[in-house]
Amino acid sequence: MQLARKTTTFWMTVGAAYLLAQLALTAFAGRHAATVGYLFNLLAPLLALAACCRCARLSAPGIVRTGWGLFAAAMLFWSVGMALSAWQDLSGQVASDATYFSDFAYFMYGAPLLLAISSVSDQHPSRSLQWLDAVQVLLAAYLAYTAIFSVSPFAQRSIAPIPASLLVVTYNVENLVLACCASLRLLAHRRDGEQGRFYLLLSVFLWCYAGCAGAYNYLTLHALAGPILTELLPSVPFLLLAVLAAQTRPQEEAARPRHAPPPLTLLIDNFSPIFFTAALLGLGFVVLRDHFYLAATSLFVALAVHALRSATLQSRYMQSELALRTAHELLEKLSLTDGLTGVANRRCFDQTLQGEWQRAARDGKPLALLIIDIDFFKSLNDTFGHPYGDACLVQIAAALRSALPRASDLVARFGGEEFAAILPATGLAGAQAVAQKMQEAIAAAAIAQAPSRSGQVTASIGLALNTGCPAPEQLLAAADRALYRAKQHGRNRIEVDATPAPRLSTCL
Ligand code: GH3
Ligand code: MG
Ligand code: MG
Repeated sequence: MQLARKTTTFWMTVGAAYLLAQLALTAFAGRHAATVGYLFNLLAPLLALAACCRCARLSAPGIVRTGWGLFAAAMLFWSVGMALSAWQDLSGQVASDATYFSDFAYFMYGAPLLLAISSVSDQHPSRSLQWLDAVQVLLAAYLAYTAIFSVSPFAQRSIAPIPASLLVVTYNVENLVLACCASLRLLAHRRDGEQGRFYLLLSVFLWCYAGCAGAYNYLTLHALAGPILTELLPSVPFLLLAVLAAQTRPQEEAARPRHAPPPLTLLIDNFSPIFFTAALLGLGFVVLRDHFYLAATSLFVALAVHALRSATLQSRYMQSELALRTAHELLEKLSLTDGLTGVANRRCFDQTLQGEWQRAARDGKPLALLIIDIDFFKSLNDTFGHPYGDACLVQIAAALRSALPRASDLVARFGGEEFAAILPATGLAGAQAVAQKMQEAIAAAAIAQAPSRSGQVTASIGLALNTGCPAPEQLLAAADRALYRAKQHGRNRIEVDATPAPRLSTCL
């Protein structure tokens, strides 16, 4: 914390020293004062450009790196504008038309900034859409420049020269709009780590720039202050940016829980791309009369980008919907499956029993229920250990499943070492046959179980039918009673709960 404060103080001192040096050298430069002033005013945005490039290099790939890259591009435009102004002023031989090149560069400085402000903060932004947005913004800025400055495109010749006062208003409005948009974005993303810090620096710079540019324009237009003091103003926002950006360190983004973005963020994010297309369309119509081909190109680009964006978003939407549905199905399957044995779990068993019970009642068909309990499982665990017991459960589940003849039959892990089977439309004989097949399948698995008579794992089965049961709970209780009897009568048996049907037992 203290180190950070020391670093801030150091960089602030460097910034102040720069301004003092500019003031002193310009004052003592005599007839070279303009050259010195231009040198300092050019060096400041170049320093800011270097600081932005450094921040872009330090940031993780994504929206923040792109933002710093665009910020650097804006600094480059501004530096070119300043270099052209210096060239025109100092050489004294440049045709007056060259003014428009410097104005063009100053004006275009806003385009990458607008793009940085309005970049969609998507987790997986589409590269092609980002490029299309860049094309739209550059074209829209060029159209705005053509319309406001009344210049012929590419020829840079003025059709009707713009008055200085209107020029000042134009720049002031551009600066204020950029500062307001950046602040709006900061408001939406102020808690988003690196992204929030980027919008903070952007807003601080843009407000400082708007203030200094406004003051500079006002003082020069009305010749209110000495030239040396006025010439300091253009360097101030760039030095501030360079100083603030120089303190940026590569940040370890803490893993924050993903939350739904606030409505304001969503609104701003979703409105930005439409804003570019709308601006391009509007500006295209404005310049249609004077620059037909330029206007036609911009209208075509606006419509083409809109169509491409719609198609891309639609296909993305369909892809994510499919992925969501697949994930949902997988989740549902997992929620109904027993993690160890892979057969249905108790939840699935309860749901199926309810459904099949109602269907059997509706169709007047029998419904059989089997409860299968592994004999002496505790001692198996004690003898061979729990992992062995687990492996046995997996084998037994597979054996039980293999004994079920119909797709509509269900075997589920009922709990612990107990399984249950639901056999729709199955009468007593059929259910007994299935129960026998289950015992045979378990015997065929030949799982070692020391204490039982055969030396292999066996199971006792309780069987019940829905006849005479008023609810599924009674059917379960009946099957449980039958199982209890099978255990009591020596295990490895099938017992039928015969209430009210005739009693029947099988001994294997
Ligand atoms: P009985 O013949 O009367 O059914 O005797 P039993 O030992 O099989 O029955 P008991 O209810 O006394 O013991 C059931 C054992 O099943 C106890 C428990 O440790 C074991 N068990 C329950 N769930 C699991 C499991 O997921 N894995 C393993 N390895 N053992 C389990
Ligand atoms: Mg048991
Ligand atoms: Mg048991």
